[in-house]
Amino acid sequence: MEYKSYFADRLRDLRDEGRYRVFCDLERRTDRFPKAINHRDGKTYDVTIWCSNDYMGMGMHPVVTGAIADTVQACGSGAGGTRNISGTTHHHVLLEDELASWHDKEAALIFTSGYVANLTTLMTLGQQIPDLVIFSDALNHNSMIEGVRHSRAPKKIFKHNDPKDLDRLLSEYPRAQPKLVAFESVYSMDGDIAPIADICDVAEKHGALTFLDEVHAVGMYGEQGSGVAERDGVVDRIDIIQATMGKAIGCIGGYIAGDADLVDFVRSFGAGFIFTTSLPPGIAAGARASIQHLRAHNELRVRHQERAATLKRRLRELNLPVMDSVSHIVPVLVGDAALCKQASDLLLTRHNIYVQPINYPTVPRGTERLRITPTPLHDDALMDHLVASLLDVWSSLGINQQAA
Ligand code: PMP
Repeated sequence: MEYKSYFADRLRDLRDEGRYRVFCDLERRTDRFPKAINHRDGKTYDVTIWCSNDYMGMGMHPVVTGAIADTVQACGSGAGGTRNISGTTHHHVLLEDELASWHDKEAALIFTSGYVANLTTLMTLGQQIPDLVIFSDALNHNSMIEGVRHSRAPKKIFKHNDPKDLDRLLSEYPRAQPKLVAFESVYSMDGDIAPIADICDVAEKHGALTFLDEVHAVGMYGEQGSGVAERDGVVDRIDIIQATMGKAIGCIGGYIAGDADLVDFVRSFGAGFIFTTSLPPGIAAGARASIQHLRAHNELRVRHQERAATLKRRLRELNLPVMDSVSHIVPVLVGDAALCKQASDLLLTRHNIYVQPINYPTVPRGTERLRITPTPLHDDALMDHLVASLLDVWSSLGINQQAA
């Protein structure tokens, strides 16, 4: 095989389709977030970030950066090993205790990322529970899809957020057969939220375990901010809560929380937990400080929701095609990969606004979009600028304003 030309041809195809990924080179600074410095063509520009998953700005918060800096100073940079071989520091233990208490579960287990938490947990349960069948929402994240695939357990895909369809599929199996239902609370590209209680009703009826990914919800929903399951009062009906510390918590790492035996089982059999160096202790300390802050400050969540609702309302008033999101995510439909990239480029180069285009395969073809994520730190002046800039880009590119 001509490897070189094969790689080049495949990359050219991506470029031709307008979905070759170009990274925006950013220098995020604690003193100016949500503004940042953009390095482009050998120059620097002051830009405002409107697509960060540091949803609450906690990655820039002195409570978090201070805890990380102090811990690095006192305990060093890396963990020094896997959790089993010298890589469990007291900061890891404290963080797992904090996570378990936050989610009102007996135990929690941390992983190096949310991706690894999903992959490892689903793979381990699918491989280790005899005859397990996994029921997976049609729009589940790639990390869950890969976890199910690598488990080699039979899988059934139910229609997105559709408990009736789930019920239909579960009914094909005897009640005694082991089953697991995997789904998300907030779906990050459309901003819709799962009917968790209804899904639990169906899962309980058929004796299935429930696995809920709250990656786009922790820190942001519920009185204490532990997610939509808390907000909806259904935490005790979820067997495994999975989430990340890389988004609203502002650090990195993933975790699961659940009953002590279940968590101990994944700890004891999960290859993606066992055979890798654990998170740096400074990150564990920073994540814990962030969670404690988020837990205690519900007003940040109130402000966050208000910012998202205000932005949606203002864009809709101007007939900009905001998609039907009920969460903090504000997706604006473009519907074409090349046009979506042009819109993003124009926002950056003409208006110093950074919103990454979202293309296939992250979203279906024909639904390419700008995914805007306001934080509590995006004030009215920044929002005025965004709204005016979007209007200018929409009219410059002739994008249909009533499309959504
Ligand atoms: N689950 C969902 C729904 C996600 O969107 C993501 C990341 N975007 C992950 C899991 C993986 O989390 P992490 O970024 O911590 O690896």
